[in-house]
Amino acid sequence: MNTPTILVVEDDLPVRNLIVTTLKTHDYKYLTAPRGADAILQAASHNPDVVFLDLGLPDMDGIDVIRQIRSWSNMPIIIISARSEDNDKIEALDAGADDYLTKPFSVEELLARLRVTLRRLSLMQSPSADSSVYLNGRLKIDYAAGCAYLGEEELKLTPIEFKLLTVLAKNTGKVLTHTYITQHIWGRSWDNDVASLRVYMATLRKKLEGPHDSPQYIQTHIGIGYRMLKVE
Ligand code: CA
Repeated sequence: MNTPTILVVEDDLPVRNLIVTTLKTHDYKYLTAPRGADAILQAASHNPDVVFLDLGLPDMDGIDVIRQIRSWSNMPIIIISARSEDNDKIEALDAGADDYLTKPFSVEELLARLRVTLRRLSLMQSPSADSSVYLNGRLKIDYAAGCAYLGEEELKLTPIEFKLLTVLAKNTGKVLTHTYITQHIWGRSWDNDVASLRVYMATLRKKLEGPHDSPQYIQTHIGIGYRMLKVE
């Protein structure tokens, strides 16, 4: 990938300056937009690689900016917002955002989220993206055969665990909400589906992560959902 261009949508000047300085220092290209309408225009005319989006904008809600951009583009959108309520994050993720960062944030965290997103982007653009075999660290999934392996060993997964693993793998690097996952597995999202999801997730993790203290593959976002990480 050439030098990635980041669109920074933020009306708060000190925060915008902090983000821009951070990007400049790390040799990223950037564009800025202080309002939602500018953001949509810039996204459409410059096709940035990643969007950093504040939700509280003077002219419109950031959620509507996500919806508008999503009507024509899959460009990754990372929410940077002071709204710390889980419901706001869930609404933004369900509207199509890829990740979120809560203000106040650290510059290191901002850069880490950006790297995760860019890795995911290069994964999607790699020639093997359409292939029927998924590789991530020691994990291998053969979608067509319906089998998953850890190293040489086949994981003994139930059909729901396999489906769950597939949904996460196909969205590696992206935070998926409970609603998103349950809808993809059961075609609906009721409260008891979310409870079942936790149970299936626990059994899947036991098989996938082994006895590790800190999970390598599946990251939990408490109250929000899960994310499959790219393992080096
Ligand atoms: Ca704001």
